[in-house]
Amino acid sequence: MRKTDVIIVGAGPSGSWLGFRLAQAGIESVILEKERFPRYKACGGALSEKVMEFLPFSLEEIVERRMASAWIGYKQKQVLVNRFGPAGAMVMRDTFDDFLVNRYLMAGGSFFDGQRANSVEETTDGIHVTISGEVWRGKILVGADGASSFVRRACGFGQHRALLFALAAEMKVAEEVMRSLGNHACFDLDAIPNGYGWIFPKRNHLSIGVLTSSHHFSLREHLKRFCQSHPILRAGEIFRMRGSALPVGGYPRLVQKDRVLLVGDAAATVEPFLGEGIYNALLSADIAADAIIAHLKHRQALSVYSERLARTVDANIVHARRLAKIFYGHLPWTFPFFVQNRIVARAFAREAIGKSDFSACLRYCLKRLPLFPFNYRQGISNAKAFSIASASNRVNLEET
Ligand SMILES: Cc1cc2nc3c(=O)[nH]c(=O)nc-3n(C[C@H](O)[C@H](O)[C@H](O)COP(=O)(O)OP(=O)(O)OC[C@H]3O[C@@H](n4cnc5c(N)ncnc54)[C@H](O)[C@@H]3O)c2cc1C
Repeated sequence: MRKTDVIIVGAGPSGSWLGFRLAQAGIESVILEKERFPRYKACGGALSEKVMEFLPFSLEEIVERRMASAWIGYKQKQVLVNRFGPAGAMVMRDTFDDFLVNRYLMAGGSFFDGQRANSVEETTDGIHVTISGEVWRGKILVGADGASSFVRRACGFGQHRALLFALAAEMKVAEEVMRSLGNHACFDLDAIPNGYGWIFPKRNHLSIGVLTSSHHFSLREHLKRFCQSHPILRAGEIFRMRGSALPVGGYPRLVQKDRVLLVGDAAATVEPFLGEGIYNALLSADIAADAIIAHLKHRQALSVYSERLARTVDANIVHARRLAKIFYGHLPWTFPFFVQNRIVARAFAREAIGKSDFSACLRYCLKRLPLFPFNYRQGISNAKAFSIASASNRVNLEET
């Protein structure tokens, strides 16, 4: 039997960040990961600016492309949302997750990949986790093992209450298409009901996909149609495709029980407006790290984790969920209001998505309310948008 203070199951962003924080505080931990690293993960790989600000390391070596703006399309009309400050970056998850694991190892952590956790037992002397026939004993167990978390099931935390559904694919396209996209991400609201299709340019290929809050639709069928209908994707070649559910939080639920905590997707922390999960995965891990450090050093109750998660992460998710319901449910009027209106679109991109600050977004818009009528854009056709994008340095995109 091997011993440690904290056993972390899963080496996604939540697991590695938690381990890193513990290592910095001088607490021993081990991360047990079922896949061999680096591993492919179904994900758009979009990091909003708040992720870049949150992490204390430069991500430049793994950033595939910096993002400046986004095309948002609806009913064959494209609107460019830009000039709202830094928009974030695109990464591939195999390199991003591997980068974070390496930061954890450099801080003094222990990592075992290719090791699937397959049983958990709680006794008076700690928690026992079995991986491939070997038993680890820890004082605390953290489930950082994603949407279909084994720890969540094994420890009786129950089912996720709300899910989004997404299918991601990697696509090779001609070099001129890569050039034409430049630093623009694309979101297409025609791609699938109650959600969107995305095109995220990476260094040498595109990550594309569809996401919806409804389980009634065939993701494959919609992705296929999205590829056929979008001018950028028509001639592309998909070389990898994988889907998954995204657990959404923002409702009362168990995320800590005795000596077991859940973080990230295992705790259902995905933001439901865009389906962004990495930021809240990191944030939940950060809050869990504080709680674990205070527990092991000062005997503070671990339940502070659930309380703080509800006050911070969940409070934002509640705003995002309400907004998602209004936005995707009434696109004929929400598209003009949220996207075609330059003030709202920028406030939203900068405050709500960029910083997770919905009240700052509201304040920003209210202050500029009298200017709303002068800030509507018509949008332009798909064909024009993407030919303009190819000459984006010369054309004043603001006029779109
Ligand atoms: C198609 C798709 C696109 C997405 N796009 C974006 C995006 O562009 N931006 C964004 O911010 N979010 C995106 N998300 C959400 C994001 O991927 C997740 O929210 C994020 O990965 C959660 O991180 P995590 O650390 O909680 O879990 P994960 O990243 O899922 O990591 C969990 C780890 O646990 C391991 N594991 C699982 N079971 C076991 C076990 N029994 N034993 C040991 N190890 C185990 C897994 O192998 C995995 O490495 C997307 C999700 C999907 C499905």
